[in-house]
Amino acid sequence: MKSVFFSRFFILLPWVLIVIIMIDIDSKRTIRTPASWRTGRALRTARSASSASGVSAGTQQNQSALPIVYAITPTYTRPVQKAELTRLAHAFRQVPRFHWIVVEDSAGRTELVARFLARCGVPYTHLHVLTPRRFKRTGMPRATEQRNAALAWLRQHRSRRDAGVVFFADDDNTYSLELFDEMRSTRRVSVWPVGFVGGRAYERPLVSGGKVVGWYTGWRPDRPFATDMAGFAVNLQVILANPRAQFKRRGSQPGMQESDFLKQITKVSELEPKANNCTRVLVWHTRTEKPHLANEPKNRKDTVFIEV
Ligand code: UDP
Ligand code: MN
Repeated sequence: MKSVFFSRFFILLPWVLIVIIMIDIDSKRTIRTPASWRTGRALRTARSASSASGVSAGTQQNQSALPIVYAITPTYTRPVQKAELTRLAHAFRQVPRFHWIVVEDSAGRTELVARFLARCGVPYTHLHVLTPRRFKRTGMPRATEQRNAALAWLRQHRSRRDAGVVFFADDDNTYSLELFDEMRSTRRVSVWPVGFVGGRAYERPLVSGGKVVGWYTGWRPDRPFATDMAGFAVNLQVILANPRAQFKRRGSQPGMQESDFLKQITKVSELEPKANNCTRVLVWHTRTEKPHLANEPKNRKDTVFIEV
């Protein structure tokens, strides 16, 4: 009897072991699959929590109350254009409540910029206006028509109900994310330092008692507003309330564009200093070096068309 029991036991044992192993493997599989799915969903939940719920609902409500930052970028076709726009997009994509107004200096919207913007992940408006040839000379102010086209778009498409801050973001600068936090509270016109302009490591408004009292600059300190295009922001309502304020060709000397524009909408005594009373540099006029293309063939020699 005992031997029958043992012989059956030993015959069944391997089968029982095999079934146990199979069940174990199978249960591991079924656990693993939903586990990875759960992680995915957990990640998604965590992500949406940071933008939409908990801290979330509040944050979102607060965010929709934030004025929109409108960054105006004039840009023109050249070898480094896409690289420049890519650097800008990496910063702008991370800024909440942001609208990028890109104005091409061209007869039409180029495919390169249109394609780039469609994929850049930043809310945008794509405009174009060609600078007349007579203004394309060294020593002449640049991008006057493009900035004015963006101002005209804002005046046409935004109203007294819209809270916003307007900023001129040339494509050859580098922008800190903190800069956008600073400018967002602009009530009329705000100012801050800019790196690598005016022949110095930085230019900045001089501040005393919370007011701008002068300018630290290496170039024409006699300018009423001795600031760079990247050194100020204007509340959208100031732009709308001064419908004739724009960048001027006539009577505007090179380097005076900023000052001539600001004169039309504000006074030095009204300026709002940002960036810790104008003691921090949050934007740099980095300017990308012109690439060496001496070996570039006149007619494309490659077998495929590559966009650069
Ligand atoms: N720009 C333009 N058309 C031009 C030259 C410049 O639209 O013919 C744009 C350029 O992409 C940049 C801004 O205008 O966003 C200022 O140009 P740039 O940086 O060359 O001028 P600078 O800093 O020397 O005043
Ligand atoms: Mn520049």
